Amino acid sequence: MSGFVVENRIWDKAESLPRSDLQSLQSSRLRKTVEQVQRIPFYKQKFAEAGITPDKIRTLDDLQRLPFTTKADLREEYPLGMLAVDRKEVARYHGSSGTTGRPTMVAYTKNDLKTWSNLCARFLTAGGLLPEHSVQIAFGYGLFTGGFGLHYGVEHVGASVIPAAAGNTSKQLMLMKDMQVDALVCTPSYALTISEFILKNQIPREALNLKYAHFGGEPWTEDMRARIEDEMGILCFNNYGLSEVIGPGVSGECAVRDGMHISEDAFIVECIDPDTLEPVAPGEEGELVFTSLCKEAMPIIRYRTRDIASLNPEPCACGRTSIRMSRIKGRSDDMLIIKGVNIYPSQIEQALLRVEGTAPHYQIEVDRPDRKDIVSVKVEMTEESFSSSMKNMQELKERIEHAIQAITGLRMNIELVSPNSLERFTGKARHVIDRRKK
Ligand code: ADP
Ligand code: ZN
Repeated sequence: MSGFVVENRIWDKAESLPRSDLQSLQSSRLRKTVEQVQRIPFYKQKFAEAGITPDKIRTLDDLQRLPFTTKADLREEYPLGMLAVDRKEVARYHGSSGTTGRPTMVAYTKNDLKTWSNLCARFLTAGGLLPEHSVQIAFGYGLFTGGFGLHYGVEHVGASVIPAAAGNTSKQLMLMKDMQVDALVCTPSYALTISEFILKNQIPREALNLKYAHFGGEPWTEDMRARIEDEMGILCFNNYGLSEVIGPGVSGECAVRDGMHISEDAFIVECIDPDTLEPVAPGEEGELVFTSLCKEAMPIIRYRTRDIASLNPEPCACGRTSIRMSRIKGRSDDMLIIKGVNIYPSQIEQALLRVEGTAPHYQIEVDRPDRKDIVSVKVEMTEESFSSSMKNMQELKERIEHAIQAITGLRMNIELVSPNSLERFTGKARHVIDRRKK
């Protein structure tokens, strides 16, 4: 474990407003946003269809009357149908990573970029960033919001950035060592690849000055955090965001690390049942829905993220008053329905991390050769288990089967594969091959 202790600093007083002040700020910003979206033909039409005029939206309760926005809507409006300002007001474009299809373009005015770096500065500060630190950003730079979002967030705090970008792991380590980097930013899958490289090359921990890391961009588990923290001797923080809403900076963990604080002065969050579209109770899992409150170029109303998580409105020991979201269990698009049971890849990750002798590298394959779903999971063995007896391997397979069954309730076919045979990722991992769709 790391000896690094996070100072409890709050970047922006908006993070600790009394609830009633926060709510009145939210409702006045909501009224403004509702006015702004009238410049977007898509929303004008949606409002007309629902028989709502902007003056009908006065309080936070009125939010429920507004239409949802979906990824399909954004695809329809590709590339810039959702723009609420003149193109000449736009300072930057980004796009979603296209994990689940064609990317959607998003736009930022100069003010939006300021808002965004301020939001990133908040979670970075909550998770240990000080102006004297240097931060290596091993996220992709480009259309993906991760690289640039975190880059300007770190600079806004006054810390220094090493814009390494994703990939070329040996160079990452060279920089980390030679530049005595304090903090790392990347996806959790890339962190796993980096950690593996350190172990394989026997880079001594003292050679590095790394203290903590901020991971985001894809689902990961508490077991994965424990694994990376243990292997690298650092503290790892989770942060969440999506390009359609702003990019990273929607939420992030504080030192308490029990959920990610949502910047509620900038976004209203709802958690709904994806089938009935009704709100779920606090603590219950549902789909997160966000409404932006401070965006100029592309304000968005009730965006259905397809990300599954729960909300915790309890006050936090850190002094922030904002609601916290749990880890994302998965995206509803990644959810596999197998024999009627909902399975997320993160559950397989969780199971594997509990079985000794396996590496948390896996690939799930689903097929339906004859009207019946068959799931097989390829799991990498560690070098040690790979060189053990057939009997030990058979036993390992059974332990994996049981661990997966304990978490998902399903029996899956396990195929043990040799160390380093599955793909490694520098950005977001792809764990599922679903042949049923073809
Ligand atoms: P794409 O949807 O094409 O991947 P983005 O790059 O905007 O585009 O990615 C946003 C998505 O990444 C979120 O909707 C969520 O599914 C996932 N994500 C981002 N941060 C996290 C996180 N900390 N934990 C789990 N999932 C995350
Ligand atoms: Zn907190």
